[in-house]
Amino acid sequence: MKVIIADQINEKGIKELEDVADVVVNTSITQEELIEEIKDFDAIIVRSRTKVTRAVIEAAEKLKIIARAGVGVDNVDMAAATEKGIMVVNAPESTSITVAEHTMGLIMTLIRKISIADKSVKEGKWEKSKFMGIELNGKTLGIIGLGRIGTQVSIRAKAFGMEILVYDPYVTEEAGAEIGVRVVDLEYLLKNSDVMTIHVPLTPETKHLISKKEFEMMKENAFIVNCARGGIINEDDLYEALKNNIIGGAGLDVFETEPPKDSPLLTLDNIVVTPHIAASTKEAQRDAAIIVANEVKKVFTG
Ligand code: NAD
Repeated sequence: MKVIIADQINEKGIKELEDVADVVVNTSITQEELIEEIKDFDAIIVRSRTKVTRAVIEAAEKLKIIARAGVGVDNVDMAAATEKGIMVVNAPESTSITVAEHTMGLIMTLIRKISIADKSVKEGKWEKSKFMGIELNGKTLGIIGLGRIGTQVSIRAKAFGMEILVYDPYVTEEAGAEIGVRVVDLEYLLKNSDVMTIHVPLTPETKHLISKKEFEMMKENAFIVNCARGGIINEDDLYEALKNNIIGGAGLDVFETEPPKDSPLLTLDNIVVTPHIAASTKEAQRDAAIIVANEVKKVFTG
């Protein structure tokens, strides 16, 4: 059995596989080379660099499994894989805590103005009064999407003394009450949250879920964080809402176009941005590699 590892994954995952397969690690393989070479492989492991396109899948002759060492499978042509009966696996649970921690990091950075204060001190200034923040204690956090990550965020936010509102049409009020959160409709959440955080997948239903109308419903000093997918927030409308102080600030790890090179959002002071790194910790990447390596092993060993 032969496995190609086309993106960098944790060593522990590679070691797991070496017990049962010939492992080729080529993390700079191009799309053309992959189309050429895929015919020799029974399994491919990727993160997000490599695109497992229809062309790659159609060129495969004995491929049985495509494994994404992470959550989203946006870089795999699912329809093409299904047509050829190739299994696609991922490791959605591996990054939940890591993403929840990053979300809390963006929230803290926003409400205490940490990144602009940092820049100011490094420029030789000492502008104490400019950086008055707010406490999280006693404030309301609105969580949009109470899945794996949303739930981990709720646990952490409660430890900060926050009340939690949730909008998730697939979660009942009873299920919410069991973990100490209040399930409400989107409008109520938008009108009553001091901080909002998005943890839904990007689907036709969630595309531009947060646009002009939604920003206008929010409290004047509300903050919103998106560590899910670009496109859930309408970035043109977010720019207007931030520029005109309709809301207090935003924290983004994901963008409609990545990198968001010429986005006017990057010119604003009341936004904190990171380069899609919410899932990037040693622990999450190790766990993702081990989980997908074991899935591939299962296919090989029956
Ligand atoms: P999950 O599937 O466990 O949870 C998603 C939740 O969204 C579910 O509870 C679902 O009911 C809810 N939902 C679906 N459609 C909805 C809608 N229209 N309105 C409100 N709620 C809706 O997923 P997860 O593991 O918690 O991950 C959430 C998202 O985070 C993923 O889809 C992924 O895009 C993103 N993510 C980003 C990073 C990153 O690096 N920034 C890393 C991991 C995951």
